[in-house]
Parts: sequence; C-alpha cells; structure tokens
Amino acid sequence: MAKKALITGITGQDGAYLSEFLLSKGYDVYGLARRSSTADVNLTRLKWLGIEKDVQIVDGNLLDLSGLIRSMQEIAPDEVYNLAAQSFVASSWQQPILTGQVTGLGVSNMLEALRIAKPDAHYYQASSSEMYGLVQQPVQSETTPFYPRSPYAVAKLYGHWITVNYRESFNMHASSGILFNHESPLRGIEFVTRKVTDGVARIKLGLEKELRLGNINAKRDWGHAKDYVQAMWLMLQQDIPDDYVVSTGRTTTVREMCEVAFNHVGLNIDDHLVIDPAFFRPAEVDILLGDPSKAKEKLGWSATITMEEMIKEMVEADLKRLS
Ligand code: NDP
Ligand code: GDP
Repeated sequence: MAKKALITGITGQDGAYLSEFLLSKGYDVYGLARRSSTADVNLTRLKWLGIEKDVQIVDGNLLDLSGLIRSMQEIAPDEVYNLAAQSFVASSWQQPILTGQVTGLGVSNMLEALRIAKPDAHYYQASSSEMYGLVQQPVQSETTPFYPRSPYAVAKLYGHWITVNYRESFNMHASSGILFNHESPLRGIEFVTRKVTDGVARIKLGLEKELRLGNINAKRDWGHAKDYVQAMWLMLQQDIPDDYVVSTGRTTTVREMCEVAFNHVGLNIDDHLVIDPAFFRPAEVDILLGDPSKAKEKLGWSATITMEEMIKEMVEADLKRLS
C-alpha cells in the first residue's frame, strides 16, 4: 500500500516541490487548499511542475478546525506536512492579527486535528530562521536563543513551541524544521530573490528600466527549495522526532545576490538599482547564517545547489516566462 501524505500549503512554493518529491517516492499526495474564485490560478505552481493532476486537492483552511479534523479522518495520512502560512514578513505588519491566527494558532488547529483524528501520523512543522531575528549568536543552530523581529516571526515561534509541546505532552511524532531562506523559480514574486530575478529579466527585455529595493545590506543564508523539501521528508523518516536547522552555512548580502542576477545577463547593477525607502521594514533581520551540522550528521542531508546557480536558474526562468 502506498503511503499517504497530506500537505497544507500545497499551492505554495514548497508545497509544489514537496509534492513532486513525494510523488517520485510513490506516495499518494493530498493537498489542503483554500477555496478561491480563481482556483485555476491557485494551481499555477503544480502546473509548472506538470503534477496538478497527480495530487488530490482537499478543500480546507488552517483556521477551520472542524474541516481539518474531517480531512484527517477521511484521508488518514501517514505523514502530515504543515506548510501553510501567511508567509511574507513585510505583510505581517500590515496583517498582524491574521498572521497570528494562521501562522501561529493555525498550528494548534493542525496539531489538535491530528491528536483527535490521527495521533500516530508523523508531523512536520515549517518553522523559520526568522525566529532568530536579532541574532543572539553569529551562527545559528538548534540551541541558539530566539529573538523574533516581526509579527510573522512571533507567530512562527508560537508554531514552533506548540509543536515541541505536543511532542513532549502527547508523545506525538512531531518535528520542526528551522528552515533558512529557500528560493526557486516558483518563489512568490514579493520575496527579494524573485523580485530581483523578475526585475532583471524585465530590464533585459526592455520592459522596465529600474529595480527598486529596500535594505540591500541585509544578509541571508539562501538555499534552493528543491533541496530543502528533501530535508522535511528525511525528518519524518527518523525513529525519533526532533528539530533541525536546514541551511547552506553561507551568508550573502542582498546586493551580492543582485549582482549575480545582473551580471548573468550582462547588465551593470548600478545603472538600474534604486534604493526606495518604501521597502524598508519597521524592524529588520540584519543577518542570518545557519549551522546545518545536525541535519548533516543525523539526516545525511546537505544543500547541493549554490545561491549563484539558483539565481541564474531563476533569471533564466523569468526570461522564459516574460518572453
Ligand atoms: P508560500 O507563501 O509560497 O505558500 C504558503 C501556502 O500557505 C500557500 O499554499 C497558501 O495558499 C497557504 N495558506 C495561506 N494561508 C492559508 C490558510 N489560512 N489556510 C490554508 N492554507 C493557507 O510559502 P513557502 O512555500 O515559501 O513556504 C512554506 C512554509 O515554510 C511556510 O509556512 C513558510 O512560512 C515556511 N518557511 C519558508 C521559508 C522560505 O524561505 N520559503 C523559510 C522558512 C519557513 P494560497 O495559495 O491560497 O495563498
Ligand atoms: P525574509 O527573510 O523572509 O524577510 O525574505 P525576503 O526575501 O522578503 O527578504 C529578505 C531580505 O531582503 C530582508 O532583509 C529585506 O529587508 C531585504 N529586502 C531589500 N529590499 C527588498 C524588497 O524590495 N523586497 C523584499 N521582499 N525584501 C527586500
């Protein structure tokens, strides 16, 4: 019998790549998606990977506990990946309550539904390096104290600790992946890497002249989503549930990442980049740099795609999309 996986956030970047990966492993993949009047648009990422017909979409919302319980009862998944969230840091100051409800309390809904309907399922929680925020150590590991700097990060911290708490209280197989930024051609357009690769492609094609960004001195530890979804799966294959940092172990400034994109198409960054105060945040996470040693040691996982390779792939994908 094929194993059954339920993915929340299946319409997002990670949901698409995780679906592709689990299908390749022979899983029956179910995805929770919120109903939308533009359902066809919702499936864009799954269509990009050519797998929209291979997954089974279930109508649901992280805010609706009764629907989650029913879905768990009907599907009886072996593995549950909770990827759904209001995931954009900048929007979390604009929609702080919703972010708390979905990204924070939504995790409680998921864990309660599991506890009631399928307590033996293995559970993955999408925690985030944003929880480190104002970093307390130069290199962040599983033991580094957290200091969240946005409503998003505060909500993720709740999701993280409630996952730990359910593991310890109810002996559930609940693991949390503290994933550092990961990107791909399927990344949302509002995130800085995709905004840059889309912007550079537009400038190259003569559709735009400038690219407007905020704080280009911020540093991030950027990896590829395709690599990172494999770490999620590996966590759920372990005998003992645990928390893992998933990162490349290398950090780069936003400006350096931009230079890779501009250089790739033979353009000079300084001819096009404009700093716009509109994109600065009320509180910034200046630097993130993760220590992936535990994931390497216990899961046998390490990143295989460099930031440079990924940014070039994203620029090429955006050129193709726009041409
Ligand atoms: P995306 O923003 O691409 O996807 C988010 C998903 O959540 C979408 O499918 C969205 O559905 C869904 N969603 C939002 N609100 C609800 C809701 N109320 N009920 C059900 N579904 C909902 O995120 P990513 O794929 O990039 O990230 C996956 C997870 O990993 C997120 O939790 C994110 O916060 C976390 N994470 C991501 C990192 C990254 O660098 N990518 C780093 C660390 C953590 P819809 O299509 O309808 O909007
Ligand atoms: P985050 O780390 O989850 O917030 O991912 P983002 O891709 O949204 O942002 C990464 C970093 O890029 C942050 O430090 C932002 O302040 C910085 N940044 C600079 N300019 C921009 C911009 O125009 N858009 C976004 N999204 N981020 C920007």
